[in-house]
Amino acid sequence: MQRHNKSVLVTGGTKGIGLGIANVFARHGAKVMLIGRTLADGDKAIAAIKQQTPEAMVEFAMGDVTQLTDMDRVAQTAVQHFGGIDVLCTNAGIFPSAKLEVMTETDWNTVIDVNLKGMFFAIKACMPYLKVSDAGRVVLTSSITGPITGFPGWAHYGTTKAGMLGFMRTAAIEFAPHGITINAVMPGNILTEGLQNMGQQYLDRMAASIPLRRLGSPEDIGNAALFFASEQAGYITGQTLIVDGGQILPESLDALTA
Ligand code: NAP
Repeated sequence: MQRHNKSVLVTGGTKGIGLGIANVFARHGAKVMLIGRTLADGDKAIAAIKQQTPEAMVEFAMGDVTQLTDMDRVAQTAVQHFGGIDVLCTNAGIFPSAKLEVMTETDWNTVIDVNLKGMFFAIKACMPYLKVSDAGRVVLTSSITGPITGFPGWAHYGTTKAGMLGFMRTAAIEFAPHGITINAVMPGNILTEGLQNMGQQYLDRMAASIPLRRLGSPEDIGNAALFFASEQAGYITGQTLIVDGGQILPESLDALTA
């Protein structure tokens, strides 16, 4: 993959998959703006990226994706620091578990707000800058959960991850006249702080159900995002890339042992 000096904004860039995305872009010479709600996590993330890539150009701006004014502000901060925005990775998301019988209206609204409205607000705020970039790119972090698979407790979450793809297909057509592409990475189970909260038993059983026999790393997703942002992917828009170690392939448990 070629080195590039693109300006990249990553929502939810302070941890997990977002940090993996940021790490990969920083290693390839991009200028990276991390967005999250927690200053201490922003500082930690910058230190972690610089440990891997000492020359990394990386900054943090505090913002909540559910607030359009925050997204407008962080987009302007990225432009002040880096001169523009070429790539937006809308990655911030939450996945609290609640089965339908106990799921409250607040549970539902919170997940929809962060995962769907947050994506929309980040895109809306960055759109003016992506339009004037030579090659604007939007990369969504969707999931296999929702568009392809289900998991008890995640009906609201799956709704948002499938909804992101519906949004993408119309956005791709609206963005095309501006030379902007939009694509989605669909991760399987990726070992992040968020997933670690599900407990060791969940992680072990998940790894056993994946043909490649391991959970993914945040950088596995970062590499896919880097591809969508690359010059080589310039003619790809409105598409998805599953990065899951083959997780969705087995027809049954027997398929893994036969
Ligand atoms: P994570 O480790 O919990 O990290 C989430 C990141 O999003 C943090 O940086 C967090 O920072 C930020 N964030 C959360 N709410 C926010 C808000 N309202 N405004 C701004 N930032 C916010 O999660 P992850 O596992 O990396 O997941 C990241 C994305 O990947 C999500 O969209 C998730 O649905 C998707 N995904 C994950 C997996 C997986 O296996 N982990 C699989 C498929 C898809 P603050 O809390 O400090 O704001």
